Amino acid sequence: MSKVLIIGAGGVGRVVVFKCAQHPEIFSDILLASRTKSKCDVIAKDAMAATGHNSIATAAVDADDVPQLVALIEAFRPKMVIHVALPYQDLTIMEACLQTGTHYLDTANYEPKEVAKFEYSWQWAYHDRFADAGLLAVLGCGFDPGVTGIFTARAAKHHFDEIHYLDIVDANAGDHGKAFATNFNPEINIREITQKGKYWENGQWVETEPFEIHQPINYPDIGPKESYLLFHEELESLVKHFPTIKRARFWMTFGQEYLTHLRVIQNIGMASIEPVMYKGVEIIPLEFLKAVLPDPGSLGDNYTGQTSIGCRIRGIKAGKEHTYYIWNNCSHKAAFEETGAQGVSYTTGVPAMTGAMMMLTGEWSGKGVFNVEQFNPDPFLEKLGGHGLPWEERFDVDLEV
Ligand code: NDP
Repeated sequence: MSKVLIIGAGGVGRVVVFKCAQHPEIFSDILLASRTKSKCDVIAKDAMAATGHNSIATAAVDADDVPQLVALIEAFRPKMVIHVALPYQDLTIMEACLQTGTHYLDTANYEPKEVAKFEYSWQWAYHDRFADAGLLAVLGCGFDPGVTGIFTARAAKHHFDEIHYLDIVDANAGDHGKAFATNFNPEINIREITQKGKYWENGQWVETEPFEIHQPINYPDIGPKESYLLFHEELESLVKHFPTIKRARFWMTFGQEYLTHLRVIQNIGMASIEPVMYKGVEIIPLEFLKAVLPDPGSLGDNYTGQTSIGCRIRGIKAGKEHTYYIWNNCSHKAAFEETGAQGVSYTTGVPAMTGAMMMLTGEWSGKGVFNVEQFNPDPFLEKLGGHGLPWEERFDVDLEV
């Protein structure tokens, strides 16, 4: 029975609240705090009605402001914070956790607002302070990053002596009926996919132009989808924690219609994060674009199709080469019927709740800052299916990549 503070009331926050509320034996008291309190109130009301949980309170907080966070945490005294606001707030929330003796979990690595740059260095730098305080911080516990790291840890623990090649494959074969929309925060999403591609090979990073490398990949129950090589943050921690990896890549599907819109958005300067003056006010084009694009939280209604995310691995077991594929498919419609949020929010929020459960039950423990693949994958994966994200695995199959 623990108190938990959830920060962020977007699509992912909604799923985390619903899923925590389904387990009052662990998450006995929930406080949902975000910049806009009215959004928290709607989620709390819906989650209590859907699950019968009777202790979900709400609050307004500016998570860029450490003293405000400290005051909120001191008033509520949670055992841990589940941070599902934006990556810009990772360091302020970690700082507030340190000042108040509170454990921490997030789903996306820190990036400074003024540079679209994803790396763990800023958060890994907190390791000693969390260790000295006897606190645990778990980084990147969504689906990717998150379950993809835990899938890789399962492969390393049970199926390989050495992992040599890792390809993370992420398909969203959903249809939301909109000409252009992103499945999570548009600003974060567009920053992520318009940067240069990057993959790990033979001990170094190889950089590519955005969308330069692509190929069709077959996804279970979906079929072939054109998949594009991107940099994704878990590649950095996975090649560090599994040093036998010779090559690690990340692939994501995009439809032609989406890429055409994105090209236009970039060509006309709307993806820029450089401030411009407009009628005497400084605005950032990408932030303005976010304000006019569909809210990802609103996509759930009539969203059909499914996501499919997994790891395709080649390596050595008992001196012989083997291949392995482990994945989850998630239906947007089923996610929406259960939580009122679409599949991408669901596949992020369910692992965040499951990771928090691992921390609160002591299945995952430690002092310091850790990535998910550093923990025992077994208890997490035993629970994940029952929490709504069943996974499958196949051995010695054609990996295609
Ligand atoms: P949304 O944009 O829908 O929601 C973000 C929420 O954070 C909003 O409620 C917003 O408030 C709140 N917020 C923003 N800034 C502040 C602040 N300074 N103080 C307090 N609250 C703030 O995003 P999503 O729900 O789609 O995504 C949430 C997180 O999940 C992101 O970090 C994203 O990168 C991550 N993610 C991770 C994935 C994974 O698999 N690992 C996949 C998808 C997402 P307001 O409503 O007022 O704007």
